[in-house]
Amino acid sequence: MVHIEKLYQYYLQHPIVCTDTRSISTGCLFFALKGENFDANVFAQQALEQGAAFAIVDNEAYATNERCLLVNDVLTTLQDLAKHHRQQLQIPVIGLTGSNGKTTTKELIRAVLAEKHATFATKGNLNNHIGVPLSILSLTREVEMAVIEMGANHQGEIAMLCEIAQPTHGLITNVGMAHLDGFGGFEGVKKGKAELYAYLKKTHGFAFVNRNNPYLIEMSERAELNKIVYYGTEEGNSITGKLLHSDPLIELEWHTASESHQAKANLTGTYNFENILAAICIGHFFGLTAAQINNGLANYFPTNNRSQLTKTENNTVICDFYNANPSSMSAALHNLKALSAQHKTAIIGDMFELGEESAEQHEKVAKLASELGIEQIVLIGKYFYALKHDYNGQFFATPQEASAYLKANPVKDNLVLLKGSRGMALEQLLPLL
Ligand code: ATP
Ligand code: MG
Repeated sequence: MVHIEKLYQYYLQHPIVCTDTRSISTGCLFFALKGENFDANVFAQQALEQGAAFAIVDNEAYATNERCLLVNDVLTTLQDLAKHHRQQLQIPVIGLTGSNGKTTTKELIRAVLAEKHATFATKGNLNNHIGVPLSILSLTREVEMAVIEMGANHQGEIAMLCEIAQPTHGLITNVGMAHLDGFGGFEGVKKGKAELYAYLKKTHGFAFVNRNNPYLIEMSERAELNKIVYYGTEEGNSITGKLLHSDPLIELEWHTASESHQAKANLTGTYNFENILAAICIGHFFGLTAAQINNGLANYFPTNNRSQLTKTENNTVICDFYNANPSSMSAALHNLKALSAQHKTAIIGDMFELGEESAEQHEKVAKLASELGIEQIVLIGKYFYALKHDYNGQFFATPQEASAYLKANPVKDNLVLLKGSRGMALEQLLPLL
């Protein structure tokens, strides 16, 4: 068996980590992870043939030569190696979790901090028990600060990810109706996310807290945090902000105790206001000037189908089909309502992972869309379809059926919200808009 210190020596010489034989980099360390339907031990030899320097395996049968390093468990080895690497780096790490807005806030923080510091941020959405160690292992000596997204859908996961990423600073974007299934209801979500605060308390780290969010206030008080930096819309915060407008892109005013500034971001959705404020607060905390902060914000263009405004041939579409849950769905519908287009259409798809609250939460969303009086509402998926007799809108059991409808009844000159859970793959409707 190879010990972690020994493995770390290999890593220092081969600091690229791969877990997928479809994307092997020459000279990498290949970690043969197991998934639900595969065991990458069987690919170890192939990874070596494709150029991996070493393969880390946990099945003796595949440790066929000296370039196969046998360990007890590949996943825990990957996590331990990341922990070990993190301990060697004396840099601030900002740990980020929350029910909604993690990736967007992470990108905004990165865009701001990068104006002054060599800043690494989690790539894409690599935020789980594998993604976090991979993110940490991609930190090179040149990196001065890191922003690490941490996702969870069960108790204990954030605590575990904190032990790996060892954040010196942390932010919970919000707590909402997401992953109710795994967390055991809303109280469970709060408890699970508060594990970040508990870690910061234990390690004397700083938390950035949105003063406007009563749940976060309650959670930070319960964690007895003493190093808190507040942001919000009331006076007396480190950063206080005011949303000027968001039609369709956000402009805001923000001030510290002594200076006042205006900023613009290429994001739509009033809910993004608090994400932007978080990034300003963190930029200010780390000593960036107002000009650097505002530049960072202005230079960030979302490309990830989260609140992304896209002009199609016939319409303007708010592409938000990356994911959905009741909180983000409600925020997106309110935002659509608030925007000043003449004609508006909401095309919304089922929200997954809501467990026994599924029926009730879908009903709330269908009701909200009706009550907001959005001109045209298209609801797609089995949960929404079950409500077809009860609320306004066109109901379809599948995106294919909705697609046939949109072909026969094209939407034109509308502001369209396209949003649903990842599994609904609503991007397939975009070409019809
Ligand atoms: P994931 O759990 O998939 O990693 P995430 O927390 O990283 O999600 P984002 O990908 O940034 O979240 O945003 C997903 C969607 O959540 C956005 O497109 C938007 O609809 C909504 N959202 C973003 N910020 C907020 C917020 N502060 N409050 C409510 N909803 C938000
Ligand atoms: Mg994310």
